[in-house]
Amino acid sequence: MVFELTKMTWQDVEEGLEESSLVVVPTASVEQHGPHLPLSVDALRARELGRRVAAELDCFLAPVVRPGMSDHHMGFPGTISLSEETFKAVVRDYCESLADHGFTDVALFTSHGGNTDALVEIAEQLDADLDSRVFVAGDREGMMEARTSAMAEFGVTPEQAGAHAGAAETAFLLETNPELVEPTDGATGYLGDLSEVSLDDGIRSVSENGVLGDPERATLEQGGRLVESCASYFAGEIEAETAELVESR
Ligand SMILES: [Zn+2]
Repeated sequence: MVFELTKMTWQDVEEGLEESSLVVVPTASVEQHGPHLPLSVDALRARELGRRVAAELDCFLAPVVRPGMSDHHMGFPGTISLSEETFKAVVRDYCESLADHGFTDVALFTSHGGNTDALVEIAEQLDADLDSRVFVAGDREGMMEARTSAMAEFGVTPEQAGAHAGAAETAFLLETNPELVEPTDGATGYLGDLSEVSLDDGIRSVSENGVLGDPERATLEQGGRLVESCASYFAGEIEAETAELVESR
């Protein structure tokens, strides 16, 4: 059962808090995702993963922090990027509000890699400042592994699965929001070594269409597997963190 804050009344929340005081807070981005996907991809993925994780853990789900830090996508129209300062301030206000209402454990995660460092920093500060436990579930490597291993089951390479708007993100949307996926013909982007892509120069300096990966390889079947793999990764990380907390009490 998911306690999804945006769908509840305040009385529901009050009652729900008697059953669980763990809340999952997904963060995302509003940024270009190539010629075939909408700017909301990371926010849609964050919400779906948050929903599945909260269902597995029988806990609360906060609304997705939709815009994130996307300076490297500003070369494409429509991208909305928060400064590091603003992003951290929004996360702080979310967590302070939730802590105020009695949530003892706040599990943050991000569907957008650009938020990772700032999220870890602000979570550490909040964990120290608030009475509630605040932590980031999972890390960049674990998330990439959950993604590439699921795609590898279908013979898709990490380069094709892609770091951005490639086969992986496209497959995810085919599963959750197929009506938002445009034809992928000709949407193939940069397929080179990702460690050579410098975010400082912006995505446009390596990929004219904004894609890192090969969306043409995406299938609906991959999407189902991918959602499952990523959700169970985050749920496992949160379970491990909260179990550790119980032990240390
Ligand atoms: Zn994305």
